[in-house]
Amino acid sequence: MLKNILSIFLQGKCPLCERATHEDICSYCQKQLKSCQLKKPQQFWQGDLPLFVWGAYDGKLKQAIAALKYDKHPQIGELLGVWLAKTWESYSLINRKISPLIIPIPLHEAKKKTRGFNQSEIIAKGFCQVTKYPLNSRGLIRKRQTKAMFSLTAKEKQKNIQGAFQLGKSLKNSSLSRPVLLVDDIYTTGTTVKEAARILRNQRIKVLGVLAVSTPRHL
Ligand SMILES: [Zn+2]
Repeated sequence: MLKNILSIFLQGKCPLCERATHEDICSYCQKQLKSCQLKKPQQFWQGDLPLFVWGAYDGKLKQAIAALKYDKHPQIGELLGVWLAKTWESYSLINRKISPLIIPIPLHEAKKKTRGFNQSEIIAKGFCQVTKYPLNSRGLIRKRQTKAMFSLTAKEKQKNIQGAFQLGKSLKNSSLSRPVLLVDDIYTTGTTVKEAARILRNQRIKVLGVLAVSTPRHL
């Protein structure tokens, strides 16, 4: 009896629909989120910078990423990272003996301070809990603020991001023997991740590809 009463008080609210729940996201919203999952997450795993995406940036997943970033619910990011990892593991796109270094796309320090966290880093954390891949959240540093990308043309986007990243201290003075996988929340044109990969590759670091939770392309 007491336990039941306590459990009512201990229930939190689902950050997406405000229903009472014991979980980070209620089971109803989890089901809706899972319906955003792509049927072929591996279809872009090709070319110079292969991409693996978990879901379509639409509906519930779009709402969840907004709640993660702007309403400050990092637990959503961790859950999405776990799902990304489970799907990733079911495809075996890289040699199983390789344990790549996970580097999240960084935010500028000022932005991270305002938000309280970097959403890509939170997603990467959830991802690494499952895969046991090593995580280096400071492998890349964003040294300058960039303008919001959505209003820019492709050329402006490239100019906007060029030189925005630099190698983190921990990677600067060591020769990294393991390859890298980049992690981002949303993959749009790929301008950001391409620039991040370029910085790493300039240091002869092998970049296997990009893992993203979502992409707005209709797939
Ligand atoms: Zn809910």
